[in-house]
Amino acid sequence: MPRSRGWPTARRLFSSRRCEISTRRNRTSITGHSRPTWRKAGVHEGFRIVGPQASRVEVLSRRWAQVLVPKVGWVRFRLSRPLPEAKSYRVTLDRAGRWHIAFAAIPEPHAGPGDGSVVGIDRGVAVSLALSDGTTHQAPVERSVKRLQRRLSRAQRGSKRRANVKARLARLHARNADARKDWVEKTSTTIARSYDLIRVEDLKVTNMTRSTKGTVDKPGRNIRAKAGLNRAILASGWSLFATRLGHKASGRVEKVNPAFTSQRCSGCGHVASESRKSQAVFCCVACRYTDNADVNAAKNIAAGHAVTARGAFAEVGRAVKREPQLRLVS
Ligand SMILES: [Zn+2]
Repeated sequence: MPRSRGWPTARRLFSSRRCEISTRRNRTSITGHSRPTWRKAGVHEGFRIVGPQASRVEVLSRRWAQVLVPKVGWVRFRLSRPLPEAKSYRVTLDRAGRWHIAFAAIPEPHAGPGDGSVVGIDRGVAVSLALSDGTTHQAPVERSVKRLQRRLSRAQRGSKRRANVKARLARLHARNADARKDWVEKTSTTIARSYDLIRVEDLKVTNMTRSTKGTVDKPGRNIRAKAGLNRAILASGWSLFATRLGHKASGRVEKVNPAFTSQRCSGCGHVASESRKSQAVFCCVACRYTDNADVNAAKNIAAGHAVTARGAFAEVGRAVKREPQLRLVS
């Protein structure tokens, strides 16, 4: 939101509208529908404009556009991408104090290369994503929030200092989330464009032999230092990645049973936990096939069989004022 002269600041603009938001709402827009939850002050701030009122949008230049928000007036905003055709938009204030405007439209999925290529993707702690063709993708390193969290817990409730620390912490969280999301979007686009059929682990199938701690027999190193934080980060990053990949490569993603993918030899199929020599090295005890452990797992996933029917996302027939939703069709 601009702060140039002659234009009201975003904060003044919208603060009076906060009370108009309904108290119950669906929080997950990217990952689909879920139970409504209670709105939380400072977290779910924003409002939606729907119908003909949402069509009053003007593009000013390559970088700027403006929108006529009812009862507010013209509000300029920076364009982060071309304006889509949309019947509604949403104005939100995130925890870091930044205003966003989002137009509701479902983009076209990406096309694969059309060469029949198949790839398997293995997620992990040491290597975020290992592909069966040997390429790896590393998620950005998170900045630690611990120091600020400690400070926040020491600050007196209701104090100015506490509010300052809280704002700083929120900015740090936002920075981490932005970096992670940016990485997820770029990586999922790259993969959706590079391969025709993409196989990933089906995480709904519990895999007891494999965890962020390594395997039961071959525990990974730095367990305690990494486990808690990394698991949470990875879990959220992975599920977002899988969801976005499903959107972008609609109908070309298969979910595979993840059992024993880290213990099976991708050369001869022999399953033995002793083959996993370390966090990084896989060496088959039967045929001496040696590979990077994560890449070996990815190759098993690439060769795996789908556990669920493969599906594509289709737009659901909907009421005019509802935001466009995706639904899995098989
Ligand atoms: Zn083997």
